[in-house]
Parts: sequence; C-alpha cells; structure tokens
Amino acid sequence: MAESLTSPLLTRRAGVRHGFSPDPAGVSAWRPQQVHGAAVAEPTGAAAPPVPADAALSRAGGPAIGVVTADCVPLLLAAEGGAAVAAVHAGWRGLAAGVIEAAIERLRTAAPGRALVAAIGPAAGGCCYEVGPGVIEAVAPAALRVVPGPRGRPLLDLRGVVEDRLRRAGLAPEAIERVGPCTVCGQGWPSYRRDGERAGRALAFVEPAGA
Ligand SMILES: [Zn+2]
Repeated sequence: MAESLTSPLLTRRAGVRHGFSPDPAGVSAWRPQQVHGAAVAEPTGAAAPPVPADAALSRAGGPAIGVVTADCVPLLLAAEGGAAVAAVHAGWRGLAAGVIEAAIERLRTAAPGRALVAAIGPAAGGCCYEVGPGVIEAVAPAALRVVPGPRGRPLLDLRGVVEDRLRRAGLAPEAIERVGPCTVCGQGWPSYRRDGERAGRALAFVEPAGA
C-alpha cells in the first residue's frame, strides 16, 4: 500500500491538518453517505450521524471531515488560514450535478473574503479512465482534449475536468495543486476500475483551524 500524501499548498496557505490516505483505517473524520450528487453536508460534530451528500463542510473548531474514493476524484478545499474547509467526492455524476460549485459557494459563505486553495488527490487518470460518449458530453469542457484509448473509447482526464471547474469558479492556477498518481496504473491506491468489488477505498480528510 502507498504512503499517505499531503498537499504542500494546503499546508502553506491554509495551515490545516489533512491528508490523502490509501486506507481509511485509523483516521478519524466525519464522512457523509456518498450518493454521487451535489449536496453539501455540515456535521454538528464528529459523532453526527451520516447524511446523504458528496461534500462535507467544517468551520473553525469543527470536526475533521472526509470522503472515500476508488478512482473518483477526492478534492480538498480550504479558505486561507483554515477558517473553513471542505472535502468533496467528485465522480463524473457529481461533477455533472455541480458538487464542486456547490462546495465552493458554501465555503465562500462560511469564510467571506478569504481566498480558497484546492488539492486534487489520487484518481483515475487520463491515461486509464475510459468512458462512454455520454460521460464526455456530461462533464468535459469543450476545450479539454479527449483522446481515444486503445479500444477506441475516449479517455477522460477527470482531474483535468475538476481543475477546469475550479478555475471557472475563480480559483487562480497557483491556488490549485494535484497530489499523487493515477489510481489505476499507479502503485498502492484503491482502484475500482482495476480491482472491481475487491477494491478498498482511499480517504481524503481535512480538519479546519481550531476555534
Ligand atoms: Zn493511469
């Protein structure tokens, strides 16, 4: 199994404890019940019951939050200084539903006037992520170059789509960082595409600043 990873950008500009871990065991973070939608949940505390959502928000003094993935994109967002943070599970359905835009809007309301930084974790890469044309139509911006894979089906760089959405939402290029490898061809990360039902789940978590 791979080592856990952190984002130097998130550490430097938000100062928050966070990580991308190939194994959720041993990391304590509140997680929503993920349903590939666009809802953003804000737990009242670490012991709050899970609710259906694909993004979680926490403010200064609040609990660590997280999402689990196996090829979908784990995205951690933080307001500078860590006054508010979000963890987002971004698969193509959630992207199409607007989960990233919803999380950013909630963060801007929670931490007005603060710049946001984003760390995009390990996910299926443009090297491996074959999709049907419907997925391309649903999520790919016109400018994103889509190349056919070895079997003629298009390959989609899902992290590139996430980055495009972040840029459109107003984040500067230097406020966005990619962390870690493609989960399918990289070593040590859970991949549903590669391992099917046997695949484990990786955890992306982030904790806001103290109250
Ligand atoms: Zn790959």
